[in-house]
Amino acid sequence: MERFKDVLKANNLKSTHQRLAILDCIDTYGHIDIDAIYDTVFKKYPSMSKATLYRNINDLISFHILEEVKLPNQKQQYEIRKIPHIHLLCKNCAKVEDFFVETHSLMETITLNSGFTISNSFIVMNGTCKECKV
Ligand SMILES: [Zn+2]
Ligand SMILES: [Zn+2]
Repeated sequence: MERFKDVLKANNLKSTHQRLAILDCIDTYGHIDIDAIYDTVFKKYPSMSKATLYRNINDLISFHILEEVKLPNQKQQYEIRKIPHIHLLCKNCAKVEDFFVETHSLMETITLNSGFTISNSFIVMNGTCKECKV
């Protein structure tokens, strides 16, 4: 919780209880959709409406504290912004794992060979996770 207070402060955002609860919830789950965030935060703050939740999430995205996670055939999820990483999506249990790997040289190869300028990327690898493989 404390580190999120500092993050909000560094962005000149008021650290409201609701914002902290939202960040804490997303941090706990790693990747989570809006309904699940609402269910969790609502238990603590029953007065919070879904509109308020959406507004807070959008504020946190615009300040690059949160990031949208768009996975194929899945509800949109959110995560705490981290250093660039790729996502491993299990086709069996739908678990999403972060995998931190250097993607700079891949981006460079694409740019050099296609002439395409990449503004942002979201890489997903589909497959079977360690737990589902046994
Ligand atoms: Zn799995
Ligand atoms: Zn991630």
